[in-house]
Amino acid sequence: MTDERLVEDYHSFTEARRRFADPIVFWDETLRDGEQTPGVHFSPEEKLRIAEVLADIGVPLIDAGIPVVSAEEARAVHLLAHAGLKSKVLASARTVPADVEAVIQSGASHIAIFVAASQVHLRYKLKMSQEEVREVSIASVRRAKSAGLHVAFVTEDTVRAPFDFVERLYRDVQEAGADRLVISDTVGIMTPLTFRWYLEEFQRRVHPKDLSVHCHNDFGLATANTLTALEVGVTAPHTCVNGLGERAGNAAFEEVALGLERLYGIRTGLRTERMYELSRLVEELSGVVVQPNKAIVGYNSFSHEAGIHTHGILAHTLTYEPMQPEVVGRRRRMILGKHSGKAAVVEKLKERGIVAPDPQLTELLQRLKAQGEARSKEELRAFLEEYRQLFEQPGVSDAEFWKMVEAIGLTEVRA
Ligand code: MN
Repeated sequence: MTDERLVEDYHSFTEARRRFADPIVFWDETLRDGEQTPGVHFSPEEKLRIAEVLADIGVPLIDAGIPVVSAEEARAVHLLAHAGLKSKVLASARTVPADVEAVIQSGASHIAIFVAASQVHLRYKLKMSQEEVREVSIASVRRAKSAGLHVAFVTEDTVRAPFDFVERLYRDVQEAGADRLVISDTVGIMTPLTFRWYLEEFQRRVHPKDLSVHCHNDFGLATANTLTALEVGVTAPHTCVNGLGERAGNAAFEEVALGLERLYGIRTGLRTERMYELSRLVEELSGVVVQPNKAIVGYNSFSHEAGIHTHGILAHTLTYEPMQPEVVGRRRRMILGKHSGKAAVVEKLKERGIVAPDPQLTELLQRLKAQGEARSKEELRAFLEEYRQLFEQPGVSDAEFWKMVEAIGLTEVRA
């Protein structure tokens, strides 16, 4: 039996088509894009708590925030930059001199300079021409380089922008000194196949020294697209713990990391056994509840109830688990309920050293199923009611806002 393979691994058939960078530089965005999740706010001290765990897990690069946003945000970036973390600390800036100076002042060693690239962003948001975008980008990159920073150049909405413009812009900023180029799927519209084409075209046209991607999850494809990018040699994936971020969020750190480790056997050097603890900390400090069926860190991702599954798991965990829960610092849970089978009951009884004869086992199972089906949903409904109210309007409430309007004496003016 020992030389027989228990499961086939078809990833090995496509191995020649992948070219992973070595090392892969995880670029954490939890404290910047993750904090931009509606209603989420981290204090500088909370950012430091999260950064310390990220650093300990082995995440090499952490975006601390945009110092020009507020005095508190500047304090957060300064705090992280001077905390002696093992990770490099990055701060973000628009292509605006004040933003870049704020990052230089913050003490961060890395900067991400961002500007929009698509026509809709240029015309309706920035109100700038392509030439103007090019000029401010080059100037910002040069200024940051002259201050000795490691410079990443980012465009928002890269993958909906004219390719010729993107090519010229990125070639020029790289020539101006940018160390790393970042491609953003800002509204999450890429699919793995198209993204692969896009990235290979970009590599062919621009010859980036070092490439990074920023993928959003509007169609649930952020992790898939990020893994695709890594397959074609992208160095630095942007990720957020628990998939936090604007709207539907960004590529989830735990998904990308474990995808690399467990699907492709890539050694990321990350201490994955602290993933669950990290997820819980971010859940608590962000106030964004992790969905129960979320991959890797959701409550249910290592739980089994159905009889067939429980029976399989008890016989061999490979039957219904692609990885052991301990890998991410978790434990398997066997749930008793309507779908339970005999194997689960036998296993549960072992906890008290009980071996039940068959008739009693059948009786117990019947009672268990009946209990499972009879469970009231009242408690759950009350919880959901409260939960929905809480998330209906995160951030500052309408009542709070209108009170502020009154406080500064703003009143209605009829034209
Ligand atoms: Mn984003």
